Amino acid sequence: MTGIKKFSSISGALKELFGAEIENTDRLYGGDINDAFAITLSGGKKVFMKSNRRASSSFFAAEAAGLAAIARSGTIGAPKILGFGDENGRAFLLLEFIDEGRRASDFWETFGRQLAGMHKADADSFVSDGAFGFKADNYIGHTKQINTPKNSWIEFFRDCRLEPQFRMAERFFSAPGIKRANLLLDRLDGLLIEPDHPSLLHGDLWSGNFMTGSDGRAWIIDPAAYVGHAEADIAMTELFGGFHRKFYAAYNEAAPIERGYEDRRDLYNLYQLLNHLNMFGGSYLSSVMRIVRRYA
Ligand code: ADP
Repeated sequence: MTGIKKFSSISGALKELFGAEIENTDRLYGGDINDAFAITLSGGKKVFMKSNRRASSSFFAAEAAGLAAIARSGTIGAPKILGFGDENGRAFLLLEFIDEGRRASDFWETFGRQLAGMHKADADSFVSDGAFGFKADNYIGHTKQINTPKNSWIEFFRDCRLEPQFRMAERFFSAPGIKRANLLLDRLDGLLIEPDHPSLLHGDLWSGNFMTGSDGRAWIIDPAAYVGHAEADIAMTELFGGFHRKFYAAYNEAAPIERGYEDRRDLYNLYQLLNHLNMFGGSYLSSVMRIVRRYA
């Protein structure tokens, strides 16, 4: 699917790719879903590895497809994909190791400009038979993310984003809650807007999903990539505390955010909060219902 090589063992992959043996495997922390490791090879090179015993290799093929799209846009740092596969029922993904460095003094401005560059890049090649979506379905966390192409962003956001998450979350809602959710879906045409142009999105851009590379720049990791309205990425950056104001100033200068964004932001984040409700449980219900009540 991605043109990225599939392997049947981690050590075999590393032997084939680098002609080296595994010297050390150190666990890394910070992710929500998978086990993460720094592998040191004979000769000293480091490789990043993510694995998951409950997933199949297609789970990581989907992440690799997102990273490949981001890399192809040529706008912002993202780790190179080395390979993916299954080893005795354990799915794995091998990536270039991002050596962390200190943030450059213009870290946030550059990050804002680079993300704007990614959002402005031609996104046609990442989706076929429609303007919005992606070449294949992928995952947001461990929830399936449907990317069936559509020509309307609003239709895409309703049918492929909010509606499937509402359906999955039905057990958390009362009957009046479900009614309101349906009303919100019916009203979406009047609440959202179509973008000037479709944008390649990271899809899950919160502070845990970028790192500072040794170049002092932002490197984005762990995407749930698709082609959509750029505002959805910006909204996600604001969901858990927000990025530095210099990031937004630089972004806005390079790719002005349309008027009324503040009124649409929570609708985009409703998708992310519903996904958190579905993955982590009831503590997210009040945030979800606050947004549903605001719009329906
Ligand atoms: P998950 O899929 O479980 O959310 P992440 O992709 O967020 O996992 O990775 C977990 C942690 O591993 C990150 O918080 C980061 O610290 C580290 N990490 C992720 N990708 C790389 C990489 N390419 N190089 C070095 N460290 C990485």
